Amino acid sequence: MRTGVSVEEARAIVLEAASVLAAERVSCEAALGRVLAEPVHAARTLPPAACSAMDGYAVRSADLAGAAAAAGASLTVAFEVAAGGRGARALRAGEAARIFTGAPIPEGADAVVMQEDAEALDGAVRIRGPVRAGEHVRPEGEDVRSGDLVMAPGCLLGPSQIGMLAALGRSGVAVHRRPGVAILSGGDELVEPDQPTEGGRIVSSNSYALAAQCREAGAEPSLLGIARDRPEDLEGLLRAGLHADVLVSSAGVSVGDHDYVRPVLEKLGCRIAFWGVRMKPGYPLVFGRFEGERGPLVFGLPGNPVSAMVTFEQFVRPALRKLAGRRAWFRPTVEATLGEALRKSPGRTHFVRVELAGREGALRATPTGNQSSGVLRSMVLAQGLLVFPAEASELAAGARVRVQVIDPEFFAAEQPD
Ligand code: AMP
Ligand code: MG
Repeated sequence: MRTGVSVEEARAIVLEAASVLAAERVSCEAALGRVLAEPVHAARTLPPAACSAMDGYAVRSADLAGAAAAAGASLTVAFEVAAGGRGARALRAGEAARIFTGAPIPEGADAVVMQEDAEALDGAVRIRGPVRAGEHVRPEGEDVRSGDLVMAPGCLLGPSQIGMLAALGRSGVAVHRRPGVAILSGGDELVEPDQPTEGGRIVSSNSYALAAQCREAGAEPSLLGIARDRPEDLEGLLRAGLHADVLVSSAGVSVGDHDYVRPVLEKLGCRIAFWGVRMKPGYPLVFGRFEGERGPLVFGLPGNPVSAMVTFEQFVRPALRKLAGRRAWFRPTVEATLGEALRKSPGRTHFVRVELAGREGALRATPTGNQSSGVLRSMVLAQGLLVFPAEASELAAGARVRVQVIDPEFFAAEQPD
């Protein structure tokens, strides 16, 4: 076991231990946000035949070339083709077919004239040329050809990818399993939100914040409940979580008299990889794993609400994304101008909760007030975590800083002026 590792070392150890989960089959309707575990080859050509891109008239471009073009030509409207239908017969010289968007181009025709550019007469149509061969025609296979590799394994399934699967006639798809995360909290002071808090009790808010972080990371959390500060109690709950892909506990990992997480994990056979990461908030973090192919990864997060959430962000979230098959494991970062000077002693990376204001290229990062690891409001107000590097001791007001964007709405929502 290593102690006092850097954030970068801890991240590397965690990600090395996390490997992509096996595949399962889900319906395309349930595939949003999942990661493809198979290559998708087109089983059909799209569009399956040349079809019209417009409502109008299918014509033979040769009929509308040369002298006929400039003067305009009258063509007999021989038949009609609707979407889902087919032409009655081949189009002959001097004929047009009434056609609608998506309808197959009848044999003999090679272009479509928009109805806005045509004058309907009785049983005929008058068209000014010239008309280019292929105009307003969607060629067969314009989108996809049968056999094409349309999506590769690792592709994140969003609305477009799901639309394509459906277009290719797929109702189901192989995706990586979502990581199941068992969450437990430990502490004699903790109660559930609807229980009384007399006598110094507090609500186990970590259980809910961490479960929400899991969901946001694409994992499936289950709450194991609260373990009292007794090794037997903790052992019982930890055992109940061994079936999961990931076990996340909070509190009881420090050096207090009631901090049993580390010894109990070891007793259960967990191999602890490290204890203690040189960061603030969140130094007392334990990471390990149980042996065996399905042995869960275990994160013993610190108990303070901000420490639990920030360590989750730095280590658990990237691991969950890797397990789920995602290729991008980390939050996007932006560069911002620091609103006020910050100081610390060198040695630990600080993650300062900041509000981000302004526009792209001119963002301003301002700390969200009291940065104590017990002040959950500093997280409530934060769009980002400013990375104050381990060896730095001062960041001047106006300094350019890197901020991990933790608020998904930051990129999603464009504010009206
Ligand atoms: P500990 O790691 O047990 O020393 O806990 C550190 C601090 O975090 C203490 O003030 C605890 O009351 C608080 N804490 C521990 N677990 C939770 C939890 N599940 N929800 C909210 N606060 C907690
Ligand atoms: Mg405690």
